[in-house]
Amino acid sequence: MNAHVLVTGGAGYIGSHACKALRAAGFVPVTFDNLVTGWKDAVKFGPFEQGDLLEKSRLAEVFAKYSPVAVMHFAALSQVGESMSEPGRYWRNNVLGSLNLIEAAAEAGCLNFVFSSTCATYGEQDNVLLDEDSAQLPINAYGSSKRAIEEILENFGHSAGMQSVIFRYFNVAGADPEGEVGEFHRPETHLVPIILEAIDGKRPELTIFGTDYDTPDGTCIRDYVHVCDLVDAHVLGLRWLLDGRGTRVFNLGTGTGFSVREVMDASGVVTNRPVPWEEGPRRAGDCTRLVSGSTRARVELGWSPGRSTLQEMIADAWRWHQSGHYEG
Ligand code: UDP
Repeated sequence: MNAHVLVTGGAGYIGSHACKALRAAGFVPVTFDNLVTGWKDAVKFGPFEQGDLLEKSRLAEVFAKYSPVAVMHFAALSQVGESMSEPGRYWRNNVLGSLNLIEAAAEAGCLNFVFSSTCATYGEQDNVLLDEDSAQLPINAYGSSKRAIEEILENFGHSAGMQSVIFRYFNVAGADPEGEVGEFHRPETHLVPIILEAIDGKRPELTIFGTDYDTPDGTCIRDYVHVCDLVDAHVLGLRWLLDGRGTRVFNLGTGTGFSVREVMDASGVVTNRPVPWEEGPRRAGDCTRLVSGSTRARVELGWSPGRSTLQEMIADAWRWHQSGHYEG
C-alpha cells in the first residue's frame, strides 16, 4: 500500500502543487485544510479532511485514521503586510496551530516533518546572498512566527526525536504547466498575479510599493522560484527524512534576484501586453533585498530548479490566470 503523507494547507497554492508531486512520486497526499484561504476544488490528488490546526482533537483523529509516514506543513497565514497590521492572528494561527500539529504528530509517533519556512526569517541584512547559516533577524510578524516554529521543531527534535526538513522559501511563482492547479488568492497580494490582473484589466494597475530602496532601480529585489521546482524539493526532502538523514535546513531559491520593475517588465514581454502601473509608498515590513544562497539544496538534495526562469514562471502563471479558477 502506498504511504500516506499528511499535507496541511493542501488546498492552497503551494500545498496543492505538492499534493500533485507527491502523488506522482507514489505517495497518497491527505489534505488537511480549513478552507479559509484554500479551495476545495484544488484538492484533486488524494483524500480531503476539513479541519483547523487550532483544534488538536481533530488532528489526533486524522493521524489515527491514516497513520501518515510524514507531515508536510504548508498551512499558514503568509502575507507580510497583513502580518504587520494583525500580528495576533499570525502568532495564534501560525505558531499555536503549528504547535498543535507538531505535538499531535509526536503523540501519534509520526516523526518526519517537512516545514514551509521563509526567507522572511532572515530580515534585513548586508549579505548579498543569504545562506542557511545567516543570522535570523525577521522584521515582520510573518517572519517572526515562522522563526518561532523552527525553534519549536528543534525542541521537539530533542524531546521526541522529531526529524525535520525546514525549507526557507524565497518568492514562489508560476503554476502547474498542465493547468490542474495554480495560484488563486482572494484577495490577491502577491506580485506576479497582481501584475497579471493589471495586464488583464481585472485591477486598474500595479502599485509599486516603494521606489526609493537602495537598489539599482529603487524597487525591492526578490529571488523567484517556480512552484513546481519548489515542490520537487519537498519530495526530495521527504525522501531525505525517510532515508533517516535527519534534521536539516535548506533555502529554496535560485540565487538570482529581480527587482519589482524587472518582474513587471518581463511580464509585459511574456504576455505581449502593457502593464499599467503607478508608484506607491513602501509597504510595512518589506526587506530591501532577499536573495538565496542556494548551494546546499543543490548539493545535498540534488535539487535542480530547472523551471525557475522569470519567463517560464510568468508564462505558466499567465496560462493559469487565463484559464484556471476555483469555485469553492
Ligand atoms: N509588491 C509590489 N506591489 C504589489 C505587491 C508586491 O510592489 O502589489 C512588491 C513587494 O513590495 C515586494 C515584492 O513585490 O517587494 C514581492 O512581494 P510579494 O507580496 O509577492 O512577496 P513577499 O516578498 O512579500 O513574500
